[in-house]
Amino acid sequence: MPVYAFANQKGGVGKTTSAVNLAACLAAAGRSVLLVDLDPQGNATASLGIDRSALPRSVYEALVDGAPLPERILPTRWEGLHLAPAAVDLAGAEVELVSAPEREFRLRRALEEVRSAYDYVLIDCPPSLGLLTLNAMVAADALIVPVQCEYLALEGLSRLLQTMTRVRQRFNPRLHVRGFLLTMFDARSRLAQQVVEEVRHHFPGRVFRTVIPRSVRLAEAPSYGLPIIAYAPNSPGALAYTALARELLQGDGLPVPSLEGGAYGP
Ligand code: ADP
Ligand code: MG
Repeated sequence: MPVYAFANQKGGVGKTTSAVNLAACLAAAGRSVLLVDLDPQGNATASLGIDRSALPRSVYEALVDGAPLPERILPTRWEGLHLAPAAVDLAGAEVELVSAPEREFRLRRALEEVRSAYDYVLIDCPPSLGLLTLNAMVAADALIVPVQCEYLALEGLSRLLQTMTRVRQRFNPRLHVRGFLLTMFDARSRLAQQVVEEVRHHFPGRVFRTVIPRSVRLAEAPSYGLPIIAYAPNSPGALAYTALARELLQGDGLPVPSLEGGAYGP
């Protein structure tokens, strides 16, 4: 039951899109998945069609007050996919955690009592290296690092990896990078192809084979509150995240469902 955190302090690289859609694809493959929305902006929560302003409870109290996480977890419309939602109050957590005891271990503690119930726990981090992301790194087994196929793609990654090393030394010796994930790839762009080569060259053997294409459908799906496999099941984005789920399952030594009769069977 691995815990993976989607981390990159750069905003707009595809953390939320990847966390939400991979979570949905893993659930569609028959796995039980908990998606933890750790970004105060709550984009992952909204992407699953859940109205944040109407939420009475969120991960916030579990982090700041040590309130039980299980009663904050919501089922979604998709079998096997649960969500620990962010609400507006999560923005305060970053500040309030500063003076909290064992402030780096809050999420890890909160997940202790639930993680065995899931095959996967995926954490969507905010675009910063603050205490929320630190909590995710301490709670996680590994990071999935989305990298946008754009100019300066590698910028900031050394800081991210330095932070990971520090977390490994001080709090979480097993932490590693599960994989770098190339996102928003445009096959017509020579630059995008160069970025793919550059990242693969820089991190040999640590980049997912699956590359996520740039696709309008992927950008549209959140506004309908739907993961891509529900919004546009045959779109390039849906096929890519399905392929990523298979690659991940295979790498983690879990059974990969057959593709007969559609993405994951009838
Ligand atoms: P982050 O969580 O890292 O800030 P997001 O996942 O929110 O990044 O993505 C940033 C923006 O780009 C969002 O508007 C999202 O819908 C869009 N986006 C993400 N991935 C793709 C893609 N593969 N193709 C097209 N648009 C994408
Ligand atoms: Mg995000």
